[in-house]
Amino acid sequence: MQNREKAISNTSLIGVGANVALAALKAIFGVIAGSVAVIMDGVNNLSDALSSIVTLVGVKLAKRKPNQKHPFGYGRIEYFSTIIVATIVIVAGCTALIEAIKSFFTKSVPNYSAYTFAIISIAVVAKILLGLYFKKQGKKYNSDALIASGKDASFDAILSLSTIVGGVVAIFAGVSIDGVLGVIISFFILKAGLEMLFDSINHIIGNRPDSAISREIKAKIGEIDGVIGAYDLVLHNYGPDRAIGSVHIEVPSHFTADEIHRVTQKVQKTVYEAYSVFLTVGIYSVDETKNDLRDRIFEITKSHDGVLGAHAFFLNEEEKFLSLDVLVDFTITDRVAFAETLKTEYAELLPGYLFVINFDVNYSD
Ligand SMILES: [Zn+2]
Repeated sequence: MQNREKAISNTSLIGVGANVALAALKAIFGVIAGSVAVIMDGVNNLSDALSSIVTLVGVKLAKRKPNQKHPFGYGRIEYFSTIIVATIVIVAGCTALIEAIKSFFTKSVPNYSAYTFAIISIAVVAKILLGLYFKKQGKKYNSDALIASGKDASFDAILSLSTIVGGVVAIFAGVSIDGVLGVIISFFILKAGLEMLFDSINHIIGNRPDSAISREIKAKIGEIDGVIGAYDLVLHNYGPDRAIGSVHIEVPSHFTADEIHRVTQKVQKTVYEAYSVFLTVGIYSVDETKNDLRDRIFEITKSHDGVLGAHAFFLNEEEKFLSLDVLVDFTITDRVAFAETLKTEYAELLPGYLFVINFDVNYSD
């Protein structure tokens, strides 16, 4: 945890320094060359510096310890800081678009010197390297804000490159194409900003957990001694790398409370050590001598569209009682009617029984 924050902070600081330097150089050489595109490019770098500062502040705020008022910590602040970065990128994109359209109406042709070309070339290389570095660090430390900044830096390299193209065309053809290039690139900046924005909003609304991770967690739990099956994994995200949740496990019906206690602890420890996720564990008792009947009931259940699985088969022959969990997808909307259909079909196999069907929601894969 400590490493992640430090790495994100250091990466962001490098971004701030590089962008402020690039912005200053482009402003000076943009004015000398009389190129709106180059000045605009500099302004864009300044917005990147601001983005990095926001990322920095976001990580600092997010790492605050949980307290009485916010027992889940402050991890989700990082989604807000990404939204702020996205907003800055969108504003920069809109500004670039307006400036590009305006330059259609000014007939002035920019006059690039050798220095202008040299400075912009350095800026292009710097932005490519910065973009790659940000994306690498962002992936390594699971920071959407860093990845977002990295993507932005890559676009900036293209933006700067286009001003070189514009300069070359101005020299050899004597016309200005800054406007056309500017419009195309503005749309790319806007697209990047909007994608960032929606990504963070989706995190806040609540995403389906990464299916590779949810499958892996269930498989790991399934391997633990005494666990027959693991189901109903729910993960609540409280910021990158922070989640709590619950899982239900099937254990043999002959297990004592002591044995269940031990298995439960093992499940929690295994998952916490591997994923830093604290899981609450629910228990289903499974009498494996009734597997034949279970298989037939499950077969009937799974023959219906929209049923993804069944588990927690619990049969009491003396009380004529059967309960089970049925995992359904989001296409089954009328659960009451569907439960009646299933009960009618079960009754052919187990006449006179009371059936209790719990529908599980498809929260994770
Ligand atoms: Zn269940």
